[in-house]
This record gives sequence, structure tokens and C-alpha cells, in this order.
Amino acid sequence: MKFERYGLGIAKGLTVTIKHLFRHPTVAQYPEQRLNISRRSRGNELVWSQEKCTGCATCAKTCPQGAIDIVTSPNLVDNKYEVEKYQVDTGYCIQCALCVEACPFEALFMGYAYERAKYRRHEVVQNKEDMMLESGEKQPSGYFYPEIAAELPRQTLLVERITEKK
Ligand code: SF4
Ligand code: SF4
Repeated sequence: MKFERYGLGIAKGLTVTIKHLFRHPTVAQYPEQRLNISRRSRGNELVWSQEKCTGCATCAKTCPQGAIDIVTSPNLVDNKYEVEKYQVDTGYCIQCALCVEACPFEALFMGYAYERAKYRRHEVVQNKEDMMLESGEKQPSGYFYPEIAAELPRQTLLVERITEKK
């Protein structure tokens, strides 16, 4: 009796396996295959423009986590502030993007990258060299910036892939 039930279970299991064997795959083979993420993604890093930043510290005052540390000094020759230190502790950051929305000079962006896992706690602290837009190494996200979003690749949606194959 027990053997019969056991055999029936295997048969049912195999039926499900065979049924799915001929279906189109709905997953990507990461990391060989990478899907385009949302153009408005709020990645776990910030991108900061040294050229546009005036050191007003609005972003730091807006951050609910106190994750932004900014130090400025007055430049009396050019009548502006020099940003001595601009640092974000992404370990505290909750990717709310309030700082990005609050920046009056369009100098701060959410990041578009998503493969930023770190092994050490201190490595999640980003300084201005790590975040600098002008270095060309960081891609800002289109979040809050439709003109940037328009330049990014369209998000890959698995559901569309399935529809296309039918
Ligand atoms: S995204 Fe939110 S939590 Fe992160 S630094 Fe900006 S304001 Fe702070
Ligand atoms: S709010 Fe913008 S301009 Fe002001 S310090 Fe922050 S990044 Fe710089």
C-alpha cells in the first residue's frame, strides 16, 4: 500500500517535470545573461557631480539616516565654498532618494549599478572620488532625471520575453 502511494508520487512529480521541460525558460542565466534593470532604479550608491555641487549641504540636512557627511571651506577668491569632504555611508543609506530630490543644483543622482556587494564594513563608505560623476566610471540612474532615463536601455521584462516567443 505504501509502495503504491510512493510510486504514484514519483509519477506525478515526473509529469510536472516533463510538462515544464518543453516550456520556454523564464529565468536568465546570471551572470552570463544580464537583464536591463529599471531605468529609474535606485542603486545602492550615489553619484555626485563635483562640478555642480556648491557645498550647500541641503542633501545632508535632508537625509533621514544622517548618511551624508560634508565638510566645506570658504573660497574667498572665487566667492564660493570648496567641498573638502563628501562622504556617504551606504551602510546606513536606505535608498530613499530624498537627498537626490532635495539637491537644488542637480548635483546628486542615485546609482544605476547593482553589483556592489562588499566584503568589509568600511568598504561601503563612499568618498567623493568613488562617487564622482566626472570620472565617467559611475552611471547615474534616471530616477528623478527623465532626461537621463531616456538615454538608458529599456528595462528587460521577462514577461515580454515569454510573450514574444509564443
Ligand atoms: S538616499 Fe536617502 S538615506 Fe540614502 S543618503 Fe540619500 S537621503 Fe540619505
Ligand atoms: S544638495 Fe547638491 S549642491 Fe548641495 S551639497 Fe548636496 S550635492 Fe552639493
